Amino acid sequence: MGRKLLLEHINVPGINTFDVYRQNGGYRALEKALKTMSSDDIVEEVKKSGLRGRGGAGFPTGMKWSFLAKPEGKARYLVCNADESEPGTFKDRYLMTYIPHLLVEGMIVSSFALGANTSYIYVRGEMMPQIRILEKAIAEAKAAGFLGKNILGSGFDHEVYVQPGGGAYICGEETALIESLEGKRGNPRIKPPFPAISGLYNCPTVVNNVETIAAVVPIVNDSGDEYAKLGIGRSTGTKLISASGNLNKPGVYEIELGVSVEEFIYSDEYCGGIANGKRLKAVVAGGSSVPILPANLILKTANGENRLMTYESLAEGGFATGTMLGSGGFVAFDEDQCIVRNTWNFSRFYHHESCGQCSPCREGTGWMEKVLHRLEYGHGKLSDIDLLVDVSKKIEGNTICPLGDAAAWPVASAIRHFRDEFEWHVTNPKEAMERNFGLAHY
Ligand code: NAD
Ligand code: SF4
Repeated sequence: MGRKLLLEHINVPGINTFDVYRQNGGYRALEKALKTMSSDDIVEEVKKSGLRGRGGAGFPTGMKWSFLAKPEGKARYLVCNADESEPGTFKDRYLMTYIPHLLVEGMIVSSFALGANTSYIYVRGEMMPQIRILEKAIAEAKAAGFLGKNILGSGFDHEVYVQPGGGAYICGEETALIESLEGKRGNPRIKPPFPAISGLYNCPTVVNNVETIAAVVPIVNDSGDEYAKLGIGRSTGTKLISASGNLNKPGVYEIELGVSVEEFIYSDEYCGGIANGKRLKAVVAGGSSVPILPANLILKTANGENRLMTYESLAEGGFATGTMLGSGGFVAFDEDQCIVRNTWNFSRFYHHESCGQCSPCREGTGWMEKVLHRLEYGHGKLSDIDLLVDVSKKIEGNTICPLGDAAAWPVASAIRHFRDEFEWHVTNPKEAMERNFGLAHY
């Protein structure tokens, strides 16, 4: 069994309550941090741990923290990005639901490290149960003296507030989230300046994902060096993976980074193989914002080695820049799934969620959706396939925020790896309609 750092106690009855969390070692990291460590000590441990942002970008957390500006007379903020909306990603919701105090403890310890007296957890608006759970956990922590003034006699004052979002995917982009938190429409800002220099109310701000902040607790408890012993290379520690699609055992798993993709899909410890005895066709390994890969490429690298669940292995041989581990939204497609239909579905999502600020994204996502729709519904032309590639190239790299790239990559990668299926939709529209809808209404 792989080592668990975040979900070790997840099956303990009542672990969502303060008392049970405490009985199982909860708030030990907070006591250690506030009584025996300086802010710089904690930042140093996080740097040593090699922890990378678990929201999707994989940016080194300790480095991000050390970029935080410290101008005289200005507040600093920690904002937890709990606006989890990436299709196929549901691990933050799981963590907040079942072990909310891990996040609350991580928020207080991280805020102490950053010198932030106020922090916010910006939760996706649809997650009302989680909002209530977090509010209860915060009230319990406060009643126990872990929040408020002069926590544990350390001189550190801190308050955590939960802020519901409005349900727009773009508010998960950190600068759009900050705009929304300030009460404005959630439009992304141009970076730089990065939030670490000018974020919430123009003050230095660290925006971290739920899982990233939770991981600070075991790092402080056990040390950064211990955390870094788990994983491989620059992919240290453990990662929560939301597994869905045609799997025998979909769910949230905590893996040690470095497990092979094959083991993750087929072993009984994790997903238990493809459902109904079908064959694997393709995988989106990190939420819909990363390229789709066919089964042969997701299981083996170009050298024939096992592909690993690490930032590096999943980027190698990939379609675009960046990592495909992303947010850990692992979606498996079996041999019966239609790649054209799935690509259209993703495009529809991005078109709907584009904030409309930049024309390549606003117009391009709409074009891609329309062209994919006609391909899927039997009215496409062969030239549409290259048109899609062309539109995706015109979006990629030409937008304010990563939503543009996120919309372009699934389309470009699907055509790159499954062009024959797109062509089949054009040359056999009736069969394609029958296959996908079970009726001949072409
Ligand atoms: P990014 O690479 O632009 O930034 C990563 C982080 O590092 C940010 O916090 C940024 O402020 C910081 N940073 C980078 N360079 C910096 C510098 N020079 N100085 C200070 N700070 C610096 O990526 P991003 O826009 O934060 O995230 C994109 C990712 O989000 C995508 O890869 C996607 O996988 C993921 N995503 C996740 C969800 C979800 O629900 N979890 C939803 C949408 C997208
Ligand atoms: Fe808005 Fe899209 Fe531009 Fe991002 S890329 S700012 S979502 S229009």
